[in-house]
Amino acid sequence: MLETLKEELIQAAIQAEKDGLCKNKSGNFSAIDQKRKFMVITPSGSERKDLSVDDIPVLNWNGEVIENKSGLKPSSEWKMHLAAYETRNDFFAVAHTHSHFATSFAICGKKISPVAFEAYFYGWKTELADAFLPGSKELAESVKKPLQIADVVLLKNHGVLTGGKNSEDARQKITYVEDVAQLYFYALQIDGKEPTSIPEKQFLDYHDYCCNANK
Ligand code: 13P
Ligand code: ZN
Repeated sequence: MLETLKEELIQAAIQAEKDGLCKNKSGNFSAIDQKRKFMVITPSGSERKDLSVDDIPVLNWNGEVIENKSGLKPSSEWKMHLAAYETRNDFFAVAHTHSHFATSFAICGKKISPVAFEAYFYGWKTELADAFLPGSKELAESVKKPLQIADVVLLKNHGVLTGGKNSEDARQKITYVEDVAQLYFYALQIDGKEPTSIPEKQFLDYHDYCCNANK
């Protein structure tokens, strides 16, 4: 079931791994169907390049595995993914990585300032969540409040999570988070002080510009 959703999920996970966002089997990716009844999620400890549709478990909204052709366990973070969907009804895919620059800011409990226009693509804001054990109910709960404010959550001492309208959208957003985190990190080194952020108004103007660009 949900073969297309699984294929899109695998493609996004493979690309994220190629881009170095989820090294050493870290991170996980999921997507849900349009009726928000089922979730497909990468298996725990998986090498993405080897994944096939049969390897992708399907879970129901209670977190029960209802299809598991290869017998691989779903990601240990399935509760966190479900929590993200419960909080955000505009999310149909969720990406979680341990990408190095974004995670470094998460470790320090410091939000990633929107210092470059790439931030537009994830809604320019990041919010922080406290540190909890990976895979725990507490970690899952911790993403709910930040997701009411921003599309991107920095998980203290752990990684980053975001969501989007489909797997490719979520992948692109988490890639842009890493890009901005890297630029912000370098800018902080160059000057040794906080660089200027792009004001919210400019992002809104940019939004109008992007919406009208093809008219
Ligand atoms: P899984 O391999 O179980 O998906 O876990 C990886 C991870 O990022 C834990 O937070
Ligand atoms: Zn993780």
